[in-house]
Amino acid sequence: GRNPTLICAPIMGQSVDEMLSDIGKANAGGADLVEVRLDYLNSFNPRHDLEILIKQSPLPTLFTYRPKWEGGQYEGDETRRLDALKLAMELGADYIDVELQVAHEFISSIHGRKPQNFKVIVSSHNYQNTPSVENIANLVARIQATGADIVKIATTALDITDVARVFQITFHSQVPIIGLVMGERGLISRFLCPKFGGYLTFGTIEAGKVSAPGQPTLKDLLNIYNFRQLGPDTKVFGIIGNPVGHSKSPILYNEAFKAVGFNGIYVPLLVDDVGKFFDVYASPDFAGFSCTIPHKENALLRCDEVDPVAKAIGAVNCIVKRPSDGKLIGYNTDYVGAITAIEDGLRGSQTANNSSGSPLAGKLFIVIGAGGAGKALAYGAKEKGARVVIANRTLGRAKELAELIGGQAISLAELGNYCPENGMILANTTSIGMQPKVDETPVPKRALSSYSLVFDAVYTPKMTRLLKEAKESGATIVSGVEMFIGQAYEQYERFTNLPAPKRLFREIMARY
Ligand code: NAP
Repeated sequence: GRNPTLICAPIMGQSVDEMLSDIGKANAGGADLVEVRLDYLNSFNPRHDLEILIKQSPLPTLFTYRPKWEGGQYEGDETRRLDALKLAMELGADYIDVELQVAHEFISSIHGRKPQNFKVIVSSHNYQNTPSVENIANLVARIQATGADIVKIATTALDITDVARVFQITFHSQVPIIGLVMGERGLISRFLCPKFGGYLTFGTIEAGKVSAPGQPTLKDLLNIYNFRQLGPDTKVFGIIGNPVGHSKSPILYNEAFKAVGFNGIYVPLLVDDVGKFFDVYASPDFAGFSCTIPHKENALLRCDEVDPVAKAIGAVNCIVKRPSDGKLIGYNTDYVGAITAIEDGLRGSQTANNSSGSPLAGKLFIVIGAGGAGKALAYGAKEKGARVVIANRTLGRAKELAELIGGQAISLAELGNYCPENGMILANTTSIGMQPKVDETPVPKRALSSYSLVFDAVYTPKMTRLLKEAKESGATIVSGVEMFIGQAYEQYERFTNLPAPKRLFREIMARY
């Protein structure tokens, strides 16, 4: 069954017509109600306009007339503002929102005149930060004391761990509560509120058409994050990174969860401090994490146990919270994903090959980069019997890695003129060439003719400049998408204890 948390679309048209058109879009997009932001109207004739909006809205209506002093647009007279909200109530609005500062007086003034089923939301917005649990609890008590039907608290996330305090308050609230945390670091508050019993979340009709920073679209809530299916027992997974906005992982895992009916959600986790993140989100609800730039090495240090391969590589990209004791177990699934994709590429390009051993055995294998992905590739290539050379911008890091795995180190600058033999393999593991800087490439084209295969860990875009030029130079190319799919199979299986839906993963990635 679906959870009771509602999805509310903010409506911020400048005219009544624009608003009605947007309300139509919200209805078609699957919203449960609309928040009509009267402060956005260029001209407002209360009785006439409210009547039209209420009568013609196919969805329940919430009216908000936000003043400048609470982060809105309205600058006029307070009596006029509050009179308009009273009128909305009388004309049949389902909800109105009033700010804590004026709520007490306002609610006394409508005492005994409230229609049945009509509800007053009393709200408080903090655009600076998220206070302590005690201070938020006090705020909730003050809002309750005004006679609010529904409490609304919106704070600002300076760190993703701020959201945990709002979850805690939401979960324990005795009154219906809307608890949201603004800003990109507060994003999970908007997806996970059904798990903690939030009254509603906001979903926009279009990307960027937000009434507060960080609101996701209706489409993402419903189609990517399976919002209606979330509940108290839903396990939370996610990708820890900074930035994480570009990641395709939420699309992949959430669609797979839905396909097999697994009760989980996979969210982007914009994390600044991995240790703090794990400390705060220590409950079994937060069950597993993928890990990307720049946290793969730090995350390893925060794990209670580390798989031997991940330890040798020095980086984890998959962390599972063991249900029996809550310990964090780190793995590296990048290694298998990338090396398998490269081996498949080599096998596909060779007509007759000695099928037994790895086609990497004996090959000269150049790894660009010495970070998390670089270590995984270098370790994997070495395991398969290749001779490994690390080329990195910071030569010292290349040397460290080369020493660790038993290889050679050169600087990235040297790579353009590096050609000890033909038929080498090249693997880029830096983010050079990644969106939005798609014109960049780590190696000049003229150097690419000595390679039989070129792999790029970057997967946005799928065809990087490096791969395009390698193909033109006659090399077999292997895209980061192959690595991405390969590493995701293994993570999915560790997260769910279910076999990865490999066909579905390929289909989803082919779409993007
Ligand atoms: P990381 O640990 O932060 O390492 C980054 C590496 O890139 C370092 O060696 C760094 O060199 C180098 N680098 C970064 N910017 C550079 C620049 N402008 N010029 C030269 N070198 C630069 O990152 P990571 O986790 O290994 O990830 C690296 C890339 O692999 C990312 O694009 C990521 O999306 C991709 N990746 C893809 C998959 C997949 O499944 N396809 C999986 C994992 C990673 P210094 O040492 O000199 O700083």
